[in-house]
Amino acid sequence: MFPPKVRRSKRLLFTIIFLTLVLIIVWRIHIRTNRDGDFLSIPKKHIFRESGQEEYMGKNGIKVIVGHYVGNSKRNVPNATYDMLNKNNFDPRPEAGSMGNPVVVEPKDLLVMQQLFQINRFNLLASDRIPLNRTLPDVRRKKCRTKYDDYKTYPTTSVIIVFHNEAWSTLLRTVWSVVNRSPGELLEEIVLVDDASEREYLRKPLEDYLPKIPVRTKLLRSQRRIGLIKARLKGAAHAHGQVLTFLDAHCECTTGWLEPLLSVIKRNPKTVVCPVIDIIHDDTFAYVKSFELHWGAFNWNLQFRWFTLSGKQLDERKLDTTQPFDTPAMAGGLFAVDKAVFFQIGSYDEGMDVWGGENLEMSFRIWQCGGKIQIVPCSHVGHVFRKSSPYSFPGGISNVLYSNLARVALVWMDDWGKFYFKLNDKARTAKERQNVTARMELKERLHCKSFRWYLDTVWPQHFFPTNDRFFGKIRNLGKDLCLLRPLRSDKWINQPMGVAKIDRCLEDDIEEEMFVMTQDGFIMTDDSVCLDAPERDGLGPMKVRILACSGYSRQKWEHEKNSKQLRHVSNRKCLDVSKEKGHEAELILKDCDGSRTQQWEFHPIPWK
Ligand code: UDP
Ligand code: MN
Repeated sequence: MFPPKVRRSKRLLFTIIFLTLVLIIVWRIHIRTNRDGDFLSIPKKHIFRESGQEEYMGKNGIKVIVGHYVGNSKRNVPNATYDMLNKNNFDPRPEAGSMGNPVVVEPKDLLVMQQLFQINRFNLLASDRIPLNRTLPDVRRKKCRTKYDDYKTYPTTSVIIVFHNEAWSTLLRTVWSVVNRSPGELLEEIVLVDDASEREYLRKPLEDYLPKIPVRTKLLRSQRRIGLIKARLKGAAHAHGQVLTFLDAHCECTTGWLEPLLSVIKRNPKTVVCPVIDIIHDDTFAYVKSFELHWGAFNWNLQFRWFTLSGKQLDERKLDTTQPFDTPAMAGGLFAVDKAVFFQIGSYDEGMDVWGGENLEMSFRIWQCGGKIQIVPCSHVGHVFRKSSPYSFPGGISNVLYSNLARVALVWMDDWGKFYFKLNDKARTAKERQNVTARMELKERLHCKSFRWYLDTVWPQHFFPTNDRFFGKIRNLGKDLCLLRPLRSDKWINQPMGVAKIDRCLEDDIEEEMFVMTQDGFIMTDDSVCLDAPERDGLGPMKVRILACSGYSRQKWEHEKNSKQLRHVSNRKCLDVSKEKGHEAELILKDCDGSRTQQWEFHPIPWK
């Protein structure tokens, strides 16, 4: 129809259009993966997103996006249908995920996979392909395997699993992993607590399935959404074991997980014990062993944080790596506690709603009122960590979370509660609505110790201000610049790790400029980072960094009141600022020469 020339140029045009389309698609995919991969960028406060969802930091230090099931954030993936939500799509393939291996999804299933992902914010399609009794590697150290041969003398336990709209496959895989990997003598029963789930398969089909479980399993239901705290309390009230073991509804217990926990409680019933929480990958459901020497604490904004036993702390402990060790705080989802102790020590704060803050409340209460919290490295349980939360928060996530945290601060943190309210506007507002009389009475009745005691004794490496520490801004007189802590904003992420920053001092007291200097000479700030410099001369200039606090002398400083010099204790050199035209100011160590750029002023800020 067309002459050959026209036809050729038409073909060329089509080719160009086609290539452009391919380019656009590749580019979009690239953007999307980048976006999904950036869960490490940590927003300082809540960010409210267009879709009516909100973001905040999860207890595990991972960015969490919360909201109603409003469908998905991915524009070209259709929402899950009513059927998809309510139908049990469990479709196991014998070898899928065996030995904790990742599930591979074929390209033809990718769209459905993405649709299903939105429902629970983990790869439901992958989970639904893995049998309920999949095999897992034995991740324990050798020594753990023979350590608990006297397990028959341990107290028995009820395993309590609360859930709201959990997937069939994850919920029942949790149950079966308990059944298959716990000694029958120790497992009294399993208590499932349904917190007002809406899924159809969790109604009669679940009830019909229960008789297939070869361990006594109770199913309690709440008609009203009561949140995980009250749901756990409901489970606890109906439990008969001597010990209560709480698990999230998307866990998998590994061989020998239970004995080490119960062994600690047998020796000291006032110890609350946590397993090492391994990672079940939210995308592939691969089982990934995590570092055994992690312990938990929190930052100035009361976000739960993991820290590693490292540096001096590790040297000092010279610990047998299979020995349980103390942790100032627990993650909250997975732990075991003597039942009588649980109730004596105040169970949970019933004034808290839905989710969040309860782990810190319990951590402070246990330590301050005469108990202890330990992590047991021989016990490994996997948990599906997700990047966002799939369900609604009646009352709004912000209200709920900050009200819960305000209660924690009011009841347990004394002056440090005031510090928290000073930094956190939302919690300060939420504070006014809290009635904590009953919890204060409990604290009185149990003769609980102060937060000062907790910081000094349980968490001596903490980075909070105290009366015998400097707290405030550190200003360079020569350049009129202030020391800045690393901000985990995108901007910081793109910076070389640990480069200490210094910038124009701001009028307001902003958090990023606030530092603590301890009596031992550590200059530290939120999230346990410290001013750090090499102890010996190297080749180039001696760069000063902000790195994880280690307790080593390379992080020790001395401020001389008269000369205003800030000296590195072990090499006696002075903290200085180098600023060349066109370059950002840099912190370096130099021989002390009395110059003005080696003078530092400490401006205290009232912290409570
Ligand atoms: N949960 C509940 N009611 C709620 C919120 C959560 O029963 O209102 C359950 C949830 O199904 C899970 C456990 O509490 O088994 C912990 O919640 P989630 O896993 O979302 O918390 P995360 O692991 O993210 O801290
Ligand atoms: Mn969970």
